[in-house]
Amino acid sequence: MTQSRIMMGTVVDMRVYGKSAEKAMEQAYAKIQEIENRMSVNLEGSEISQINKAAGLNPVKVSTETIAVLQKAIEFAQLTNGAFDPTIGPLVSAWGISTDHPRVPTVIEIDYLTDLINWQDVEIKAEENQVSLARPGMAIDLGAIAKGYAADEAVAVLRANGVESAFVNLGGNVYVIGAKPDNSPWRIGIRDPFAQEANSFVGVISATDTSVVTSGTYERYFVKNGVTYHHILDPKTGYPAESDLASVTIISPESIVADAVSTSTFLIGKEAGKALIESLPNVEAVLVDKDRNVWVSSGIRNQFEIAEGFALDETR
Ligand code: AMP
Ligand code: MG
Repeated sequence: MTQSRIMMGTVVDMRVYGKSAEKAMEQAYAKIQEIENRMSVNLEGSEISQINKAAGLNPVKVSTETIAVLQKAIEFAQLTNGAFDPTIGPLVSAWGISTDHPRVPTVIEIDYLTDLINWQDVEIKAEENQVSLARPGMAIDLGAIAKGYAADEAVAVLRANGVESAFVNLGGNVYVIGAKPDNSPWRIGIRDPFAQEANSFVGVISATDTSVVTSGTYERYFVKNGVTYHHILDPKTGYPAESDLASVTIISPESIVADAVSTSTFLIGKEAGKALIESLPNVEAVLVDKDRNVWVSSGIRNQFEIAEGFALDETR
């Protein structure tokens, strides 16, 4: 059974097989809605909005799951020396790249806003479920990690309902349960980041029971005076990150990790990204650099088929 709903600012597709499919899918969508209600920056009353409104004022009590996602985001801020930073909120709002009125902020604005970005100014009191932001104007944005968390939770709900075969896609954040109903592995295409069409691929991954998450500049961007501005921002410069990578795909049974690592790798670039990927357990990757070289991590090479027009980068 197949369904699509708009949630978390994207299209959430589910294809679920088995007797309990309908009930399981309904509960999984409800779980994603609950996560959006807690973690969205775009919803007035969400826990993240409450934290942001109280920046520089008082701590806010939130759910254990919001604390856990925030802690995971901070772990990646540490691992990337602050290239990945969940306090990127003020810059995300200024650029408005995911809105229908994006704009290039002024240099003065950028200068002011970059000073507000610092994950070390997030204080978490885990025992009391409290979060506070040290300075007024600071804001958390979990856009780089929340869809991964939601995928994990939706999959947990499906599995708890006995589902043994499913495909879940939160706007490019994919999770597959088991194999396809005919027992062959799921096949997940990795989009060609240089092509305009969405159905043109760098290659295909064959996978079961894992998540496949891609970060790329083609996902969200706008063009102004012939310059393309994308949505992954460099907290140091305040502008879209200049990466030597065109897209990063991470394969991991933990979608929250895949989501955090994909954005992080894009931000820190190919060499540092490879080192990050190799340092983490159960994390595999397909990196497409700006020269169309495709690097595939050792653990997934025999599950990846490259498309014509791309060169396999054989370096370790
Ligand atoms: P993703 O699509 O998972 O790569 O995440 C991109 C989203 O993460 C953006 O749309 C922003 O909401 C947010 N974001 C942008 N820049 C950063 C950054 N440097 N660190 C953490 N999150 C970011
Ligand atoms: Mg991400």
